[in-house]
Amino acid sequence: MIKIIQGDITTLAVDAIVNAANQVMLGGGGVDGAIHRAAGRELYEACLKVPEVRPGIRCPTGEARITPGFKLPAKFVIHTVGPVYREITAPCGGSRPMGKRTRRAERVPRQHGEPEKLAACYRNSLVLAAENGCKSIAFPCISTGIYGYPIEDAAKIAVREVEEFLAAKNAKDAEEMEVVFCCFSTHDVAVYERLLK
Ligand code: ADP
Repeated sequence: MIKIIQGDITTLAVDAIVNAANQVMLGGGGVDGAIHRAAGRELYEACLKVPEVRPGIRCPTGEARITPGFKLPAKFVIHTVGPVYREITAPCGGSRPMGKRTRRAERVPRQHGEPEKLAACYRNSLVLAAENGCKSIAFPCISTGIYGYPIEDAAKIAVREVEEFLAAKNAKDAEEMEVVFCCFSTHDVAVYERLLK
């Protein structure tokens, strides 16, 4: 079952809330800061214990890690790192002589892989939730704040990934699993409502 709500994700009494974290996983701005403030110092301590995969990186972009929720009403926090959005590079013009490689680069706009990375955030968070017995999970609009991903594009990816995840379950399990899109703004709610109607 998919629900859309407007509000502060830190107040939700679900099994897991998802944090739009950064790779360091020690807190930041936006929803990340709000979650760390509401969960208390223990969340910071728990994040500190998540092993680094490379110096300073506990969770690479697109992956997810789980910690308890501590002072939050949610049992768990699933930390995932969305991609920083970059504009698709426009085909370059110019008067440079064109070799084979240049021509090919001009035809294919550079994508940087953000859609795949954002999709992976949703998929990996859902898998981690299921592995930890969660029956309800709430997502913020990952990457659409400080990371600049356009909400319409990001929401399409979010809805597609959640629907695919639920479709792969049997009907009873899908019905029992509650996935909440927790939007901070009424505009974001409207975007999700349009996609889900
Ligand atoms: P990112 O760095 O991934 O873009 P942000 O935290 O800047 O993450 O923004 C992600 C989304 O979370 C934005 O839509 C922002 O408005 C929203 N947001 C910020 N605080 C909260 C909160 N307490 N509850 C739910 N959503 C929030």
